Amino acid sequence: MLRRPLIAALLLALAACAGGTTQTPGPSAAAVGAARTELAGVEIEPTGRGSAANRQMTARAWNRVQPAIARMCAHFDAEGCDYGLVWSDEKTPNAFADGETIYMFDGLVRYLENEAQVALVLAHEAAHNVADHPAKGARNTALGAVAGAVLGGFLGAAIDDDLTGEGVALGAAVGGATGRLSYSKTYEREADYVGAYIVDHAGYDLADARGLYRVLGGLSGVKTTSIFDSHPASPDRLAGFDAAAAEIRAGSRWPKLKG
Ligand SMILES: [Zn+2]
Repeated sequence: MLRRPLIAALLLALAACAGGTTQTPGPSAAAVGAARTELAGVEIEPTGRGSAANRQMTARAWNRVQPAIARMCAHFDAEGCDYGLVWSDEKTPNAFADGETIYMFDGLVRYLENEAQVALVLAHEAAHNVADHPAKGARNTALGAVAGAVLGGFLGAAIDDDLTGEGVALGAAVGGATGRLSYSKTYEREADYVGAYIVDHAGYDLADARGLYRVLGGLSGVKTTSIFDSHPASPDRLAGFDAAAAEIRAGSRWPKLKG
């Protein structure tokens, strides 16, 4: 049996690990319940856009969110925000980041209804770095190893600069990914929160971006590799996004940092 001081020390250590940087607004139980109702029975289909169009849409979104990410990094005084983006034509609905590079799969983007939703995926991944999550206790899970194995055959390709003209500095680091990072739910909520601000700063309509969580809710029944396992349940994320959007619409320009 563990002695009390040891238990207390363990709990303290856990609490320290889980601590976020921001005052992420927690949705009410009622809001989560409403989101659960909204998402119940949501069925989604691929949009029918082809892979090339999806890739171009992703490049456009990337061009547009990058300045907003840079501003957010400066606001947080964060390092490690110099992300690359790698595209994959793979049909697994997935996206992940390893702390340096975001990997976007056609299998996810083909379900997304608009560019704002693509931007929100990119913003979420970047937000992990903005809030310094890789340094603050990311862990490589066993699934990271699986992702690494999958990446051995990863047909990634840097998105061509000429698709959008400028500013798409994308890594071609195929095989360079050593496993995606996995975070606590606290960090996932925080990344959703900061991601909403990044998308807003990039000039996207939050109402358009919101549908991402419906898509993720619809996809959560699909057996897939990694985008869902470490993330809070979709109703929680949808309600959390709504809380962030309400804060932004009320005039807040930056995520609220802890005092
Ligand atoms: Zn995440």
